[in-house]
Amino acid sequence: MNDISQFSSGISILEITYIVASVLFVLGLKMLSHPLTARRGNILAAFGMVFAIVATILFHRKDGEPIGNIPWILGAIVIGTIIGWVIAKKVKMTAMPQLVSFFNGMGGAAAALISMMEFPHVSPELIARSGMSNGHVLAILLGLMIGTISWAGSMIAFGKLDGWIGDMRIKAMKYVNLTILAVLIGFIIFIMTRDVQASSELTPYIYIMFAIAVVYGVLFVMPIGGADMPVVISLLNSFTGVAAAMGGFLYNNQAMLTGGILVGSAGTILTILMCKAMNRSLLNVIVGVFGGGGQAAVAGGGIVKEITLSDAAVLLSYSKKVVIVPGYGLAVAQAQHICHELDKLLEEKGVEVKYAIHPVAGRMPGHMNVLLAEADVPYEQLIESDVINPDLPNTDVLVVIGANDVVNPAAEDDPSSPIYGMPIVKARDAKNIIVMKRGMGKGYAAIENMLFFHDKTRMLFGDAKASLQNLVNEVKNL
Ligand code: NDP
Repeated sequence: MNDISQFSSGISILEITYIVASVLFVLGLKMLSHPLTARRGNILAAFGMVFAIVATILFHRKDGEPIGNIPWILGAIVIGTIIGWVIAKKVKMTAMPQLVSFFNGMGGAAAALISMMEFPHVSPELIARSGMSNGHVLAILLGLMIGTISWAGSMIAFGKLDGWIGDMRIKAMKYVNLTILAVLIGFIIFIMTRDVQASSELTPYIYIMFAIAVVYGVLFVMPIGGADMPVVISLLNSFTGVAAAMGGFLYNNQAMLTGGILVGSAGTILTILMCKAMNRSLLNVIVGVFGGGGQAAVAGGGIVKEITLSDAAVLLSYSKKVVIVPGYGLAVAQAQHICHELDKLLEEKGVEVKYAIHPVAGRMPGHMNVLLAEADVPYEQLIESDVINPDLPNTDVLVVIGANDVVNPAAEDDPSSPIYGMPIVKARDAKNIIVMKRGMGKGYAAIENMLFFHDKTRMLFGDAKASLQNLVNEVKNL
């Protein structure tokens, strides 16, 4: 759909619908910031998007003519809707992060395709007719570069989260990536300084730029592993938003522009927050340098002590303060409901129960908040890890349920660890620690966790859901 030349005087119906759609996006985003309103916010924003698409099909005019290719457009919408619907319905909650990465990549690819499609149309006549300036050419080039990086990077992130792509760490990666980035910027400057009359002659450069951006997207995500994936996922998310905003600028389409800017700015804010939470620098994220860079230095060792169900039930029931640290394993086991049942039982017995929420626990930003909100755990019980940490020395029992990396003391003790410097839930400060997991399996960062061998720690082995169910029965029988 080539809409570069579409400029209208006065406000059209289409522009009004775009403003309404934009308002719905903003309201939806606002509602997404709280678990209680998030579902409605999502529906509202989706409705805004449907509204914008329908209005575009009905009211968009190019040189006074309505949109053509309607059967193709409707066909694509139907196919896309069916595929998206089926995948989203079937996906397991634990595979949601991969799906989000995949969908994010599709957004980047769409933005890159728009740029590739529009660049050959740039001509002096079009510029004269539409008032198109160099800014539009820049929007095309940036949309291509950022959209392609987002697509390629998201596909690698998808493979990593799904477990079929491993980490690839080369020492000089930072310099290789910086050089590729400089080459891409060089291409943009080169194309911008050429005569637009030669846009069709310049088209091959667009394809070369695309290929280099693919290489960059792959290389900057490849070394990232361990506990650093969440940062790169939110960065890729913001890239897709910025690339889509470039399309909005190009087409003078307010809904696309607002949607892109909202995703881009929300993603950027999330990236900065994640960098802060993970103690990483934004520049290092952009050039693909992460963590301590070394392998886990600690080999498993020490004695692992187990706790029986009845001892665990007694310990918890006669405590004053209990803190639960939920992690990825809680989501895998789908044990959130039974976990809430345990916390209600303990509270009935006069125990104060709080949840320590680590920003990267689980496999997607906000994973634990969403999971526990689904089980109706009151929001006030969820306390961010850096807020609850100072209170842990007064905590009688800290129960780690299916969490590993987010409580790993290597982040504080071992400079060679890939998670070194990442803030953690300071589990060791609590008076007693119970760890619930199936065995001695490692977490996402694939490193040993010395917390499991600590003097204060006792392990309750088993699937989190089954263990919690048994624990609930024991507590009831006391
Ligand atoms: P981890 O991945 O570190 O550990 C999860 C633990 O859960 C495993 O050690 C496993 O041990 C246990 N487990 C698995 N299944 C079950 C089950 N059914 N019942 C009981 N336990 C189970 O999780 P964390 O939440 O501590 O940390 C999240 C990690 O994921 C971080 O490294 C983070 O950086 C990364 N990540 C986070 C993203 C995000 O946005 N939040 C995105 C991508 C990565 P065992 O096998 O012995 O049971």
